Amino acid sequence: MYTGGFYPYAAPEEYWAYWSRYIWINRYLDAPEPVYQDLLALVKHKDYFVLTTNVDHCFQRAGFDKRRLFYTQGDYGLFQCSGPCCQETWDNEAAVRQMVERQRDMRIPTELIPRCPRCGEPLTINLRSDDKFVQDEGWYAAARRYEDFVRRHKGGAVLYLELGVGFNTPGIIKYNFWRQTAQNPNAFYACINTGQAAVPPEISKRGLCLNTDIKHALNAIKM
Ligand SMILES: [Zn+2]
Repeated sequence: MYTGGFYPYAAPEEYWAYWSRYIWINRYLDAPEPVYQDLLALVKHKDYFVLTTNVDHCFQRAGFDKRRLFYTQGDYGLFQCSGPCCQETWDNEAAVRQMVERQRDMRIPTELIPRCPRCGEPLTINLRSDDKFVQDEGWYAAARRYEDFVRRHKGGAVLYLELGVGFNTPGIIKYNFWRQTAQNPNAFYACINTGQAAVPPEISKRGLCLNTDIKHALNAIKM
């Protein structure tokens, strides 16, 4: 699905037929496994914070406290202006539902193509892919809460638990966690990832790699 999002669709009607289904499945339908709920059960009585590049809202739907979440890369559930003419975002659930329900032969009706309420240009999905990504007030508020959390725990006993982060955008979570662990002798780094679990030598004494499925790892911890 992710790869299909980069296809050069011939018309906006076709583009939105694909993207509305993609958003509906990944953003509005429930995840197939209770992995997020299992993770929440493990951390909810602790002073936790979630830093994520996921854009599917699964943490919030599983019940994570939204004041303890920072979605750095956007949200499938929000539209932004393609210009952009403004730093605003809009909930897209009703619009996406219409596109899913009314599409025929892989095209949505032309009148459903979403347009910016401010300038009339096409809307797009609030995802970071270039410098047009809109960081609205909610994004900045979450960024500040994350910075506060890091500041409050500087030098403290912190577990940096990295789940399923690959080498697509390692700068946001992986390198950040490695650096913070290296700078704090009371910190510990754990990485759960099938096939890509690694810890650099500088922090290997305070690091753990689990080369396995996150679901299996969390189930083992629960027992
Ligand atoms: Zn606009």
